[in-house]
Amino acid sequence: RRQRTLAARCPRWVRVNGRRMARAQAVELLAQQGWSETHDEVLRKGKHFLVTPHLPDVLAFAGSSTSQLLAHPLYQDGTFILQDLASCFPASVLLDQDAAAPLICDGEPLHVIDATAAPGNKTGHLSALLASSAAHASSKVSAFELAPNRFRTLVSQLSRAGALAPTSVHLLKSGPGRGKPKPDAAAKLAGAVSPRLADFLATDPLDDEWQDVRGMLLDPSCSGSGIVGRMEVADAEQEEETSSEETQATRLASLAAFQLSMIDHALQFPNLRRLVYSTCSIHAEENERVAIAALALPRAGGWRLAPRSEVVPTWPGRGRPEECGGNTAYAEGMIRCDPGGSVDVAPGEVHVGATNGFFVACFVRGEADDAASD
Ligand code: SAM
Repeated sequence: RRQRTLAARCPRWVRVNGRRMARAQAVELLAQQGWSETHDEVLRKGKHFLVTPHLPDVLAFAGSSTSQLLAHPLYQDGTFILQDLASCFPASVLLDQDAAAPLICDGEPLHVIDATAAPGNKTGHLSALLASSAAHASSKVSAFELAPNRFRTLVSQLSRAGALAPTSVHLLKSGPGRGKPKPDAAAKLAGAVSPRLADFLATDPLDDEWQDVRGMLLDPSCSGSGIVGRMEVADAEQEEETSSEETQATRLASLAAFQLSMIDHALQFPNLRRLVYSTCSIHAEENERVAIAALALPRAGGWRLAPRSEVVPTWPGRGRPEECGGNTAYAEGMIRCDPGGSVDVAPGEVHVGATNGFFVACFVRGEADDAASD
C-alpha cells in the first residue's frame, strides 16, 4: 500500500529523445495541442507539463496524463521515452559539458561504454545526448548485456529510439509481417549504439577495441529497493528470489561485492576518464559504501569523486556524509533520490521532486581542482 502511495506521488516522467526530435520542437508541438507549460512544483490533473530545471530534456506530467501520453504520436514514434527523472541523471552526469574535463571536446572521437545496458533506458539517453551535441559528430556507444532475454529487449528498445548502429541492425529479429529489418532512415551515426551479448567482466580492457574508451556508465544489478512500483519496473532487474534463509545483510553484501568487482574491472580500461556508477537501491551498502570502497581499490590510484558542481548540482538530495567517513565533499558529490520524494501531496497530485529511489556517484581520473579531493 505504501509503495502505491509513493508511486502515486511521482509525475509521469517523459524524456524527449533527441535522436528523434529536439526538446524545443516537442514542447512547441505540445503547446499547439493545448498542453501548457507550468512552473508549479505540484501538478494536478489537466493538460500541463513542466520542463524540469535539473535536466532540460525531461518533462513532468500529471499521473492522469498517462493514457494520453501512451496514445500520443510522439510516444509511438520513440520521441517520448517514459523514463524516471532519476534514471536520466547518469548519462547527463557522464557527458556534463560543465565538468572540469568534459568528455565531449571539439573534434575528438569519443567511445563510451554502457557496461550493464538492458533494457536500455540509460543507453538510449546517452546516445541521444551524443547525437544532440553539436560539438561532437564522431561518437559511438558500446553496450554490454549478459542476459539473452534482456539483450533482446535492449536491441528492440534501441531500435525504437533510433539509436541502433546500422552495423547492429542484423540483431533485430525479423518477424511475421515485419520482413527483413532495415536500418532506421532517420538514424544519426553520432552516438549510435552497438549492443553486444557479453559478460562485461570477461572483456579484456587492454584489447585494441577499447583503447579509445573515455567514458563509462555502470548501472549494475542491485536490490532494486528504490523502485516505487509504477514507473520503469523494467529498469529493476528481476532478481532471483531471495531464499527465506538468506538475510538481507547477506544479500546486500553479495550484491556490494559484485558491484565493487564491476567498478574494479571498469577502472582497468586504460584511457577511461569518467565513470558513472548508479543503482536504484536505497541501501548505503550498495551506494555510498561501494563508492568509498572503490576509491580504496589498488587500481583506483589517480581516481577521485567528481564534485557536486559536476553531478546535477541543482538536485537537493545528496549522499550521506556518515556513510562517507564524514567526508562531506564526497557526500555532496553524490546524488540520492528518496523513493516518492520527500514532499507529501494531496491525492491525485504529483510533486516534481518525486522519483524512484536512486543513487549516483561519478569517478573521475586526474588532478583534483576542488574540495572533493579532501
Ligand atoms: N542501465 C539499465 C537501464 O537503465 O535500462 C538497467 C541495468 S540493470 C539495473 C543491470 C543489467 O546488467 C541487467 O540487465 C543484467 O542482466 C546486466 N548484467 C549483470 N551483470 C552483467 C555483466 N557481468 N555483464 C553485462 N551485463 C550484466
